Amino acid sequence: MRQVHHMIAGDAAGSASRHGEVFNPSVGEVQARVSLGAASDLDRAVAAAKAAQPSWARTNPQRRARVMFRFKELIEANMQELAELLSSEHGKVVADAKGDIQRGLEVIEFSCGIPHALKGEYTQGAGPGIDVYSMRQPVGIGAGITPFNFPAMIPMWMFGPAIVCGNAFILKPSERDPSVPNRLCELMLEAGLPEGILQVVHGDKEMVDAILDHPSIGAVSFVGSSDIAQYVYARGAAAGKRVQAMGGAKNHGIVMPDADLEQVVADLCGAAFGSAGERCMALPVVVPVGQSTAEALRERLVPAIEALRVGVSNDAEAHYGPVVTAIHKKRIEGWIQTGVDEGAELVIDGRNFTLQGHENGFFVGPSLFDHVTPTMESYKEEIFGPVLQIVRAPDFESALALADDHQYGNGVAIFTRNGHAAREFAARVQVGMVGINVPIPVPVAYHSFGGWKRSGFGDHNQHGMEGVRFWTRMKTVTQRWPDGLAEGDLADAFVIPTMS
Ligand code: NAD
Repeated sequence: MRQVHHMIAGDAAGSASRHGEVFNPSVGEVQARVSLGAASDLDRAVAAAKAAQPSWARTNPQRRARVMFRFKELIEANMQELAELLSSEHGKVVADAKGDIQRGLEVIEFSCGIPHALKGEYTQGAGPGIDVYSMRQPVGIGAGITPFNFPAMIPMWMFGPAIVCGNAFILKPSERDPSVPNRLCELMLEAGLPEGILQVVHGDKEMVDAILDHPSIGAVSFVGSSDIAQYVYARGAAAGKRVQAMGGAKNHGIVMPDADLEQVVADLCGAAFGSAGERCMALPVVVPVGQSTAEALRERLVPAIEALRVGVSNDAEAHYGPVVTAIHKKRIEGWIQTGVDEGAELVIDGRNFTLQGHENGFFVGPSLFDHVTPTMESYKEEIFGPVLQIVRAPDFESALALADDHQYGNGVAIFTRNGHAAREFAARVQVGMVGINVPIPVPVAYHSFGGWKRSGFGDHNQHGMEGVRFWTRMKTVTQRWPDGLAEGDLADAFVIPTMS
C-alpha cells in the first residue's frame, strides 16, 4: 500500500510507529497509509529548520521571492496531477480541486511581491541628529496546522508569506488528505528552496501538541474547527508563541425582498452544496426577509436542489462528490435527524443516498430545511455538509441580529439591489468577511482572510499585509551619530529622552 511519509530535511522520512488510514471517499476504501509522527520527528525537522533558516533570512528578499515564481510555474505545469490526487483523497470534484490549488497559487503570486511589503519605515530627523527606522524581521521557525477541506490552498496561505518573509516553515497537514501537501513540498524543493526551509510532518494531536510546546517554534498558524482552534491558541500562547487560529463557521445569506431570486438560487446552490458543504465559507443558512420573499425563494430553491448531481469526484458532470470520511457522513446525517427532532421542516432529505456502482462511497444527498429557528442546536452548530437551512426573518433588523448573535462570525452575504441596505449591513454586521451579492466572499490574496467571534482566535488574519505582519516581527532602531559632546549632554543623560 502507498505510504505517505514526513518530508524532513528534503527527504521522505520513513518508519513511524503509528499510522493513519487515507481513504478514497468515492469508493469508501483505504488507498494509503500516513505516518503519524511523534515529538522526535518534530525535533529532527526543527533541527533542520534551525540549520537552514539564518542563511535563508540573510538571502535577499528578491531571491527568496524568485523561488515562488518558479514554484508557481511548477504548480501550473502539474495542475492536473495535483487536482486529481487532491480530489481522490478529499472527495471534492476535480474542477473544484483545481480551484483549491488556484486560490493557494494566488497567495503564492502575492508572495512574489512581498519584498515590497518588507521595506520598513524611516524617519529622518526624529530628534536633533536622530533618525528612527523600523524593519520587519522573520519570526524564525513557524509552523502551520491545517484542516482537511483545503489541502492545497490553506498550506499555501501560510507557507508562501512565511517563507518569503525569511522564515523556515514546518507544515502539519490534515491526516485525512496528506499527499498534496507532500507534493507541494517536493515542488518547492524543485523550485530551488534550500532543504529545511519547508518541511512536512504528519500526525494527529500528538504532533500538534509537540508543535505547540516546542521552544524553538516562534509562531503557529492554525486552521480547523473552533474547539481545537481555541485549544491551539491557548496552549501555544501559554508557551510564549504568536498564534493565529481560524475556526469553524456558520455563514448566513440574507435575502432582501428586492433581491434577484434567480441569481440568489444559483448562488445558494453553489455556496451551500459545492464541495459537499465542506467549506468554512459555505453558505449553509439562508435568511429570507419577509414571508413573501421566503415563499418565492423556497418555490425556486426546491427544484434547483433536486436537480443537483452528486457523483464520484472524477465525474466531470457532478456538482459535488462524497464527504471526506464515513464518520463525517454519519455526523452530518445525525445533524439532519437532530433538525427533524427539533421541529424544523425537512423539505428535502439527503440521507440514505447511494450512488449506483459506488455503494460504499461516503455520499450525502442535498438536504433542505425550512422553519429553522435560532434556538435549535442544528442551527447553532456547524454541520459542514450539504445541508441548507432556511431561517425566516420578518425584517432587516432581525436578519442582521441573527448573523450578529451567532457564535460564529466567519463570512456573511447580503443579496439586494438596495445600496443603502447593503452599506448599512456591511458596516454593522459582526462578521469578518462580508459579501454584497457575492455568496462566498473569500478575499483576494492581497487582502486578508479571517473571521470574528468563535471563527478566529489570536491576532492577524491570513495572507495580504496581515500575513506579512504575522510572519515578521517589527524592530525599531533609533540612531544618532554625534559630532562630539554637545553642551548639556551630560546633564540631559539622566532625564528620559523626549522629542520636545
Ligand atoms: P479539525 O479541527 O478536526 O482539524 C484541523 C487540524 O487539527 C488537523 O491538522 C488535525 O490533525 C488537528 N487536530 C484534530 N484534532 C485535534 C486535537 N484534538 N488536538 C490537536 N489537534 C487536532 O478540522 P477539520 O475537520 O480538518 O476541518 C474542518 C474544520 O475547519 C471546520 O470546522 C471548518 O469550518 C474549519 N475551517 C476553517 C477555516 C477558516 O479559515 N476559518 C478554513 C477551513 C476550514
